[in-house]
Amino acid sequence: MKTKYHILLLFILTIGFSITVSAQNREYTRSTGPSLFQYSSSVSPLNEPARYEEIKLNHELINKFLRERKIVSFVLGKTNSGRNVEAWFFPGISSKKALVLGGMHGSELSSIEVTESLIKNLLQNEGTYYNVIVIPSLFPDNAVVAKSKPRHIGSTTNIGRYSLSTMREPNQQMPAPGQPFYEEWGKDYIGREIEAENKLLLSLINCYKPERIASVHAIRDVRRAGVFADPRTDSKGFALGYESDSMLAIEMAKFIENNNGYVPGNKLSSGPNALYYLDPIIVAKGEKQKRNMHGSPGSKTRRGGVSFGTWASTAVADAKDPSLNRDAMRIMTIEFPGAKRPQDYPAKAQQLQFKKLVDLYALAIEKIFLENFYLEEDPPIRILNLETTYAIPKDPEL
Ligand SMILES: [Zn+2]
Repeated sequence: MKTKYHILLLFILTIGFSITVSAQNREYTRSTGPSLFQYSSSVSPLNEPARYEEIKLNHELINKFLRERKIVSFVLGKTNSGRNVEAWFFPGISSKKALVLGGMHGSELSSIEVTESLIKNLLQNEGTYYNVIVIPSLFPDNAVVAKSKPRHIGSTTNIGRYSLSTMREPNQQMPAPGQPFYEEWGKDYIGREIEAENKLLLSLINCYKPERIASVHAIRDVRRAGVFADPRTDSKGFALGYESDSMLAIEMAKFIENNNGYVPGNKLSSGPNALYYLDPIIVAKGEKQKRNMHGSPGSKTRRGGVSFGTWASTAVADAKDPSLNRDAMRIMTIEFPGAKRPQDYPAKAQQLQFKKLVDLYALAIEKIFLENFYLEEDPPIRILNLETTYAIPKDPEL
């Protein structure tokens, strides 16, 4: 493990960073900055100070966000131990909606650094093409646990990955693919109660219905770091075509690599790959797509269930409540190399380099994922002049 980090550090130090944001030539002229509301209650009008009452996010509030086009920071709800799950809304220049998520695994502290870096940028810059809601840390209780054991961050002890109350894999407690999240039911595919934080996420999706999602994680084996896409299917599991999903992931990876970042899992030089290494091979459009229903190895109580990527990338049809029907969402799983925050590295040079890498992953979200690449239309549209096309990967590397 140590050697891997050394290789990574060597790689980074050798190449060095020079961030050139070439995808967009936009000038950032906003000088005064956007207006900002802090509130946590739908009963509190947006133009009044927050009253911090219990809120329930609903379609009306989301529509208000989209209509008023102001940056809003809000509280999605409470964790089991009463912490706020915070979120931000940033208006885009189009009507399209994106969601960015960090800290699904509380132990993956670097993922929270990436989403926080993104928020910092979005607060300063012009609106992106997509409207976006950012949840920087979905399981803040678990992140606090991870931070309390600094020597274990990134180690195989996985402290903070599972909520102690459940010891279940947070990323695999979703409803059946093709089924909506029924709030009053609140159970996952195999009938287990979904954790409070995931319920907040799923309720948000019920009323926000983003076209695309970026879920930021961190990966211990840094050679697998990169940007990956789940194959979208209809509600019955038949493939809708992977090309545009994989190309968006590859463009994000290219952006990182072209700016001297580190995305070895995408294998950009040897044959670009956007498939997560544990996921089944991609089938042709119209064929039945196999899904990974087991997840990563773990104890019996943790493993099994439907992953967030599988659920999100499967369309929902025939819901008892038709308002819960939705298209398959484009979902990118971003695996940052290593769970440590920059400050958790011992050497100053490493801290600096990892800070740059965090910022670069965040920039890829801002400049590629949130811009007008591969819009969710049929056929997908590429507006900017990107030169490469990529073969769809045939085999996951196992
Ligand atoms: Zn993770």
